[in-house]
Amino acid sequence: MNATEAHGRPWKDLWKDLGKGLGQCIAEHHLIDDGDRIMVCLSGGKDSYTLLQLLRRLQTRAPISFELVAVHLDQAQPGYDGTPLARWLEQEGVVHHIVREDTYSIVKDRVAEGKTYCSLCSRLRRGVLYNLAEDLGCTKIALGHHRDDAIETLLLNMFFAGSMGAMPAKLETKDGRNTVIRPMLYLAEKDIAQLAELERYPILPCNLCGSQENLQRQEMKRLLNDLETRIPQVRESLLASLKHVRPSHLLDERLQYSSVLRDKSPATSTGRGPVKLPVVSGAPAERGDVVGSYS
Ligand code: SF4
Repeated sequence: MNATEAHGRPWKDLWKDLGKGLGQCIAEHHLIDDGDRIMVCLSGGKDSYTLLQLLRRLQTRAPISFELVAVHLDQAQPGYDGTPLARWLEQEGVVHHIVREDTYSIVKDRVAEGKTYCSLCSRLRRGVLYNLAEDLGCTKIALGHHRDDAIETLLLNMFFAGSMGAMPAKLETKDGRNTVIRPMLYLAEKDIAQLAELERYPILPCNLCGSQENLQRQEMKRLLNDLETRIPQVRESLLASLKHVRPSHLLDERLQYSSVLRDKSPATSTGRGPVKLPVVSGAPAERGDVVGSYS
């Protein structure tokens, strides 16, 4: 690892802060249990490398024992070269699997000219990864989504889908076969990017598919950047809002008349901390994101 500085911030502090945020998310949402075998989805982007390395560090310090298996999916995109990633995994001594599944041809085949591939591509990838997790005997699947992914998704859902929901830290799939965890949801994308740069992770390009990265998501990023110039803490605040929901002040009647919430909804206004939402079948948050992103 390369000890240096990231924008004046000591490298050690960056690792420490990211590790702390990861630990907090894991503890608050009970993401890891003793004996877990966790499949870490490694796309080759900055987020997934960081996730893997943070979990590996945690593994050496945690009072519980858990296994990690890194999995990279080669989707047969034109020009794909996974050699740098494979070499890095070998050098680091990470237990891993690299699997090739030509989802690219299916997407090309089925998506009309001019439309973006991302939605179908993500669905196909998810299917492959979920099956793999079962085959590999993994109890959890870890994804590298971070704070910025979550708040962009929240805005996307509100602006374009008329629903409120971001990304769950832990989600059991509908068929009950897999549990997906997102331990980096409290971490800022800019910190992850700094770490990835300092550590010189061999990033694989993510534009090989020829699909434009989701334009609406890019628009949310621009909006947040713009807001940040006037409201510096806007991203932190939006994340905090996801942890301090006041269901009684929303208009979803399924939440309004739940006895659980009636008893607990004033908690945030009295500073007693976030309310735990009961699972409401078919609630917007469960239906997933407007756009399935991959880390
Ligand atoms: S940008 Fe990513 S999700 Fe979208 S089609 Fe390409 S590989 Fe798939």
